[in-house]
Amino acid sequence: MVVDAADIQRVAVLGAGNMGHGITEVVALAGYDVTMRDIEQDFIEDGYESIEWSLQKLDEKGRLDESPEDVLDRIDITTDLEEAVSDVDLVIEAAPEQLDLKRDIFSDLDDYTPADAILASNTSSLSITKIAEATERPESVVGMHFFNPPVKMDLVEVIYGEETSDETAEATYEFVESIDKTPIYVRKDVNGFVVNSVLGPFMDEPAWMVSNNESTIRQADAAMVHERGYPMGPFELADLTGIDVGYHVRKEAGKPVPPIMEEKVEKEELGQKTGKGYYDYEEGEGADYEPEDADDFDTLRVEARIVNEAAKLIGDDVATPEAIDTGLKLGAGFPEGPCTRADKIGLDRILAKLEDLYEETGEDRFEPADYLVELVEEGKTGKDAGEGFYEYGGSEGPGDYRTIDYELSEDGLLEVTLDRPERLNALNNDMMDAIVDLLNSVDTEEVRAVTFEGAGDRAFCAGADVTGFADIEPAKRAEPTEVFQVVDEFSRPTVAKVDGYCLGGGFELALACDLRVATEDSKFGFPEIDLGLLPGGGGTQRALRMAGEARAKELVFRGEHISAERAADWGLINRAVPADEYEDTCAEFVDDLVSGPPVALRHAKRVMNEGADEDLDAGLQMESQAFALLLTTEDAMEGAAAFQADREPEFEGK
Ligand code: NAD
Repeated sequence: MVVDAADIQRVAVLGAGNMGHGITEVVALAGYDVTMRDIEQDFIEDGYESIEWSLQKLDEKGRLDESPEDVLDRIDITTDLEEAVSDVDLVIEAAPEQLDLKRDIFSDLDDYTPADAILASNTSSLSITKIAEATERPESVVGMHFFNPPVKMDLVEVIYGEETSDETAEATYEFVESIDKTPIYVRKDVNGFVVNSVLGPFMDEPAWMVSNNESTIRQADAAMVHERGYPMGPFELADLTGIDVGYHVRKEAGKPVPPIMEEKVEKEELGQKTGKGYYDYEEGEGADYEPEDADDFDTLRVEARIVNEAAKLIGDDVATPEAIDTGLKLGAGFPEGPCTRADKIGLDRILAKLEDLYEETGEDRFEPADYLVELVEEGKTGKDAGEGFYEYGGSEGPGDYRTIDYELSEDGLLEVTLDRPERLNALNNDMMDAIVDLLNSVDTEEVRAVTFEGAGDRAFCAGADVTGFADIEPAKRAEPTEVFQVVDEFSRPTVAKVDGYCLGGGFELALACDLRVATEDSKFGFPEIDLGLLPGGGGTQRALRMAGEARAKELVFRGEHISAERAADWGLINRAVPADEYEDTCAEFVDDLVSGPPVALRHAKRVMNEGADEDLDAGLQMESQAFALLLTTEDAMEGAAAFQADREPEFEGK
């Protein structure tokens, strides 16, 4: 048996189509030797050309550590199955979605691959168990479900068939980590696995509501996007992925199909690909809903069904709440995991909604999941109750995070490292959530100052890596802003230590800090305009206030990088220093903050942040109130006493 990912060296990918060529590229990028196989030379060449094109693009964006040719050198192509798989440790099958075809392929793999190879399928909707039955070694067969496009999408579901061994699943999970993707376990072979199961109600409940004349298409899309923060409306998303795709998945799973979906399929209005679906893309303006269309749409009804689906998966031991939340954020662009959101809404509210709808309509889809009922009966109704899908131990403080590292020193310095050096520390949802969670849960009594820096030696943070629904125009994605707000409002002083690229969302994070120190070679900029976007995390406004209108507009409109020296000159950063003075300069800043009077620093930060948005009179008023309050603190007395005695003060934050 292959027992861990370290044993995997050679990989074969079967299929050079949409998914196959993307998976091949990802695997080769991670340093593995990989053979891509398709049934015809033309298909292989098309796939190979797509990889060349994609590597070129990555190279142009500075995302490759080697040349595209070096990566291509690790890719072999062939139409001969035996040649492709006879000496590999892992096969990833990405052939068309037909059970008989996949079973034939796996039966051949059984003959041709080494006995200890892992046989993985990228199927989206077929049963891993049934595919595995075509082999004599079902324990070595596993689902490895990438999302489209594999190069951009971070998530991979690792799915157990009935016979899959833990060794196979664990080695697959580690392999996924080794190619810089985020795996989640799907512990049972359920239809739709985790992401598509939970995404199902997001798409079909609004379709039922429109079919029953309880809503309009624009109303549903506007409410889900503008009120609940999803990156696309359910109908807009269906038009993008193809209405027929969702239709067939539901038919095959034996689920009832909302009439409006049936109607569209009959009329062959399948979405963007046919020019018309729920919206008209040829004669009309496409998905043209506006925020005001949202008008009274019952978003809780849709989210209650999403949560119910998640509860079924947890209750049936298919996935953990963490896996579901990670899956839906990374695989479907949900603004927050459905279990986290449910705990905030209150599981009792969600259950009551489902029970009302079930009683009213008798429809099976509203029948509450046993696990949800159980949680509510046990009083585990969510965050306010201290436990729901998750436990909320207020006193436990922050936990471990995958995308950031942090350390709190004894003297109260909280050092946060953005820890995705392979992506130049780009902010993704997970990282933003981690920062928010850390700052919200850390005991502020113990923290005196916070620093942010980037892991590796190339970047502070090169931007936002917002993995959302596949292939969606970035402009449609909900812009994440909470993290910038939380950093801005954190009650202790914050410092961004910038050594390398500080771009886009990374620049916005640095601007949300109170102070910024950079190495001379660092680069700053807002490249968003080149994507048809604008800095959406406070960048336009903070740059405007710090650098003035002309300079801020130059930055935002032109999208060019500026040097650290210019950034300092423009008032965007505090210091630009040579590399050999950088750590010392940072230490001087930080020492002053850590040993400074905590209460005075907190009030100074608050009145300066809030005062910036007020007129002078109001600002002065806030300042005098804070001043009066500080006069009564023990720290102020200690400051005065130390001054008199000509010694260093020891502030205690009282
Ligand atoms: P595709 O049609 O673009 O590519 C399939 C390729 O497989 C074609 O080039 C075809 O010639 C080739 N092929 C056919 N028989 C083969 C064989 N015996 N051996 C090797 N190659 C063979 O399809 P796709 O979109 O890449 O989907 C492939 C698989 O990935 C399916 O199982 C699909 O469900 C799954 N998937 C697709 C997506 C998506 O969004 N497209 C996402 C996740 C998973």
